[in-house]
Amino acid sequence: MAPTPLGIYIHVPFCSRRCGYCAFNTYTLTEQSGAAHASAAPIEQYLDGVLAEIALADNSLSEDRPALRSIFFGGGTPTLLSASQLGRILSAVVDRFEVERDLEVTVEANPDELAPGQLEQLRHAGVTRVSFGMQSIQPRILQLLDRTHSPERSLQAVSEARLAGFDHISLDLIYGTPGETEQDFLLTLEAALSTQIDHLSAYALSIEPSTKLAARVRSGALQTPSSDEAADRYLAAEAALQGAGFNWYEISNWAANGQAQCQHNLLYWRNHNWWGIGPGAHSHIDGHRWWNLDDPNLWAQTLSRGASPVSGSERLTTEQRHLEDLMLGIRLAEGLPADVAPRDHRTERLLNDGLASYDGDRLVLTLNGRLLADQVISVLASD
Ligand code: SF4
Repeated sequence: MAPTPLGIYIHVPFCSRRCGYCAFNTYTLTEQSGAAHASAAPIEQYLDGVLAEIALADNSLSEDRPALRSIFFGGGTPTLLSASQLGRILSAVVDRFEVERDLEVTVEANPDELAPGQLEQLRHAGVTRVSFGMQSIQPRILQLLDRTHSPERSLQAVSEARLAGFDHISLDLIYGTPGETEQDFLLTLEAALSTQIDHLSAYALSIEPSTKLAARVRSGALQTPSSDEAADRYLAAEAALQGAGFNWYEISNWAANGQAQCQHNLLYWRNHNWWGIGPGAHSHIDGHRWWNLDDPNLWAQTLSRGASPVSGSERLTTEQRHLEDLMLGIRLAEGLPADVAPRDHRTERLLNDGLASYDGDRLVLTLNGRLLADQVISVLASD
């Protein structure tokens, strides 16, 4: 049997400021410096921690592990690290791990926080894919989300990435921000598709309870869109993307061709293996899950003592793994194989309701099913 594919995720927990809707494990450098002014010390400490955790992963994973399929720098804002700092991390991974010939290396970036020449340097260091957080083309939506970049800046960043030699460029969009109209989102899609991207992600805004935005919604100052409006936005995205030659390969992700699909995220959706490095990063190896200490100082200090930075773990039962295979796999256009979703009264019900269909022996969501994926999962998980 072929070994389960393996990837590495590297969490960079720094942002220049916190966006009002964001609940990720990220900190400003000022917060981390513990001083009135940001300093480089937290980044140096972080780099030492990352190098120590790469060594830990190398020593912990069996020697017959497969070559790495992907490395993904996520955040936070990975490009707050210089290209040479990101390159140092990348070299440390590649020195210790065998990698597949067409290793995918993704870096997430904020469009307005790139140093001159940084994209060229990243490409030169071995990064193959860049993903920009565009979110919207409307200034008032960007402002409401506390995004610091101008609408045009995202579009320019894509051109610069092309010039820097990137073949794979993605834009992330958010729909369903309070106050967003259908026209706002159509203009956003049009602007995104006017660039030379080969991948686009579009996620409905999720209002996380701990955020500033959630407090404004709770106070009644902002209204969230209805589920019908959110569904209309999704259908608009599907129509625009299909019209531009993009196909969905996961509910919220579209690619111009097979090579443009994000191999790293496919590892997650296929429930394959990945080691997460960095504060708060999660890992999954063969049904064993664990997650790191959230606090960057504590995480780095623990590693510097030669101790494990893990703060919790669980071993999934066979039933839990099956449920995860089902919940993650049904999101993919490749659908679920017969051993995960055998034909029975549940799949029959989904076919009758027009929520799924068969592609060969694989169960695949219909467009309606994509809108009602949670409902599909509860049917598949029922007795
Ligand atoms: S830039 Fe991204 S990670 Fe950082 S605060 Fe904003 S949404 Fe969160």
